[in-house]
Amino acid sequence: MNGQRISRRSFLEVGGGATAVSLALGLSAGPGLAQARATVRAAGQKMPNGVELPESPPARRAADSVGFAIIGLGDYALKQMMPRFAQSKRAHIAALVSGNADKLGQVGDAYGIPRNARYSYDDFGKIASDRRIDAVYVVLPSGLHAEWAVRAFAAGKHVLCEKPMALSSAECERMIAVGRRAGRKLMIAYRSHFEPHNRKAMELMSQGAAGRVRMLHSVQSYRMGPTTPRENWRASRALAGGGPLEDLGIYGLQAALYLTGEMPETVSATVFRPEGDPRFAEIYASVASQLRFPSGAMAQLATSYDSAGANFAEVRGTSGTLIMDPATNYSGQKMRLEGRDGRAFDMGDPTLQFAGQLDHFANAIRDNSPIRTPGEMGLRDLRLIEAIYASAAANRAIRLNGDGSMRS
Ligand code: NAD
Repeated sequence: MNGQRISRRSFLEVGGGATAVSLALGLSAGPGLAQARATVRAAGQKMPNGVELPESPPARRAADSVGFAIIGLGDYALKQMMPRFAQSKRAHIAALVSGNADKLGQVGDAYGIPRNARYSYDDFGKIASDRRIDAVYVVLPSGLHAEWAVRAFAAGKHVLCEKPMALSSAECERMIAVGRRAGRKLMIAYRSHFEPHNRKAMELMSQGAAGRVRMLHSVQSYRMGPTTPRENWRASRALAGGGPLEDLGIYGLQAALYLTGEMPETVSATVFRPEGDPRFAEIYASVASQLRFPSGAMAQLATSYDSAGANFAEVRGTSGTLIMDPATNYSGQKMRLEGRDGRAFDMGDPTLQFAGQLDHFANAIRDNSPIRTPGEMGLRDLRLIEAIYASAAANRAIRLNGDGSMRS
């Protein structure tokens, strides 16, 4: 593979996402937005508050363990994912990439990462010749996923990419195409697919444990503290798209699909953005959507950055109701079935989802086993997100094709 060639072409392709994002959001692509989207850059940030670094570096479990380079040493990487490599059977942290040299040194020392396996954003391209690195785990702000996934493919590495896969379906399509051309694998880090309660819920619903699914109701929300787009990438359209839907609501959207086992045929949605609130100068505060499935099942999904915390899913069938609350948290999942076969389910430790996800991708790389949450799933979800925004902008229902793209 010629890394340079793929890299140049792919950058041009990814750059085209700006207009797609603004159009999908139903907002006019003013010069400010287009410019902001084109100029978003990976930039070092300070160490997040409350990070506990390991006292001793975790040991590798398997001789054929897959080496990951972690890019984006932020809250999620440092507090959730990186500590969980210790529980993985076949994945280890081989390298780090950061724009903050102090943080890189501190985290590198704690995790036992050799100095010559600590990269900056500027020298990222050098990972191409680092044989210790098999895969890159992209944990950057969402608006940077596409660019850095493409760079990782150009360096000949496999990619595990955080959700949302990117900020537009066009970016997702390019990521998939570039990965294919490079002959490398792409997985989206949809951890709930590896969480025991969510796995059981999929099984129960597919077996008709609540009868035929009729209604699904899901909310993901929290109240964002005072901030501005400059201070917080989650408030910046260029880095976060429309906001809570891409960040939190995507879990409810995912659940609606994996619990009904169907793709929606129609979507209608509405959005809210208060005037004069700096948190919502560029993103929506709340998004509510309704999906109708071919079976007649209906899903009502709501997500917000401006209401008290919630993370639940309820599936009402013809003979019972499955209640998951919390549904897709890092831990503490609770699940019960009400109705004829009513009971509570304790499926074991939800935090196994983190290592489970890592081992799943490691197995796919080593054994060529199928990926449960491939790039195509991330693309499907971005198409649906675009349809939700398009529906809100047009104030009408949007009919969908089977792949989630808009029909009308
Ligand atoms: P964060 O702000 O805590 O960390 C982001 C990190 O990216 C920063 O610390 C910095 O190291 C790096 N970065 C590079 N360029 C940056 C820039 N221009 N602006 C800001 N940071 C920049 O964010 P996070 O909560 O760790 O989220 C990172 C990604 O992980 C997002 O895509 C998010 O959606 C995803 N995430 C997933 C889950 C999950 O449960 N799967 C949970 C949280 C976050």
